[in-house]
Amino acid sequence: MTNSISTDICIIGAGPVGLFAVFEAGLLKLRCHVVDALPQVGGQLSEIYPKKPIYDIPGFPEILAGDLVTNLMRQIEPFHPTFTLGERVEEFRKLDDGSFELKTTDGTQISCKAVAIAGGLGSFEPRKPAIDDLTTFENGKGVHYMVRDPETFRDQRLVIAGGGDSALDWTIFLANVAKEVTLVHRGTTFRGAADSAEKVQKLHEAGKVNLVLSSNVTHVHGNGRLNAVTITANGGEAKQVEVDSFIPLFGLTPKLGPIGEWGLGIDENAVEVNTVDYSTSVPGIYAIGDINTYPGKLKLILCGFHEAALMCQGAFKYIYPDKKYTLKYTTVNGVPTL
Ligand code: FAD
Repeated sequence: MTNSISTDICIIGAGPVGLFAVFEAGLLKLRCHVVDALPQVGGQLSEIYPKKPIYDIPGFPEILAGDLVTNLMRQIEPFHPTFTLGERVEEFRKLDDGSFELKTTDGTQISCKAVAIAGGLGSFEPRKPAIDDLTTFENGKGVHYMVRDPETFRDQRLVIAGGGDSALDWTIFLANVAKEVTLVHRGTTFRGAADSAEKVQKLHEAGKVNLVLSSNVTHVHGNGRLNAVTITANGGEAKQVEVDSFIPLFGLTPKLGPIGEWGLGIDENAVEVNTVDYSTSVPGIYAIGDINTYPGKLKLILCGFHEAALMCQGAFKYIYPDKKYTLKYTTVNGVPTL
């Protein structure tokens, strides 16, 4: 069944800038629905550097990226934003009344009065290993490039491939969910955090995880659905292992993706905007945060927050051309709920 959502502003991207835009929109009593291609909120902060301290967020001499995301989520709670995670926005259609219809990879349809693209570096695409027929088993047929819901793998036989934090973290987590977990890594040492590598080693010694080092998954097998993979040692010896799912975790690369095809003004992979309100060349569509470009642009979170505030003023005028808006301080009015 197609999922249909109706809202005032659809925010594409749940990075820090998209999340803060929910707050600024909420102050104007505009409802938001946020879509992100990743299974979690936080954009680059959650995906690339959750444990790194940030030092240039006003009012926080130091804050971990992951904690900033947690705080932003708390800050927008009063406005009850809704989320579609793990789905990429693919298409938009502008209707005669000036509103929009957006569609995601999984067919979710969002009707909205304005669109705010807060897509950062673009949507993160998985790095896929070069294995023949791998794509045949995508889309629920046994090959997964990210773990959206660990319950998908309950009581399954899994092969995870990779040597970074994602491969280690999911091996540790899924060891308690799946029936059998095998981690395959082409090297002998891991790129991920040392304490995670140590935990995986301990799980291996306790017989809870199979660890296959100096090896690669080289073939996938199945008839309509994945049922086995071939693991080949760097020396050349190969063995076939029966599996229910194969999870290659070789990182994600950002790509501007479908937004680049929307007919918006684009300059070097970024969306051109008018800095009065961060509007794009299509009235009603705005671009904020790392995804936009203008003279003097700085790809910083604090600049994205400023852009979000002005964008919401612009979107308010677009949605309600006849309504007058007067700036109200939160210190005076508090945070209105929606
Ligand atoms: P992002 O955080 O990139 O989030 C964009 C989101 O949009 C992503 O989750 C993506 O999946 C989603 N998306 C894109 N296209 C689609 C689509 N079509 N459909 C659905 N979802 C989509 N900045 C600072 O200010 N201070 C720092 O100290 C700092 N340190 C950094 C350290 C590192 C290692 C890195 C990599 C960056 C750092 N930055 C820092 C930069 C900062 O992270 C970015 O400026 C910030 O993340 C931009 O936020 P954003 O919300 O615009 O985009």
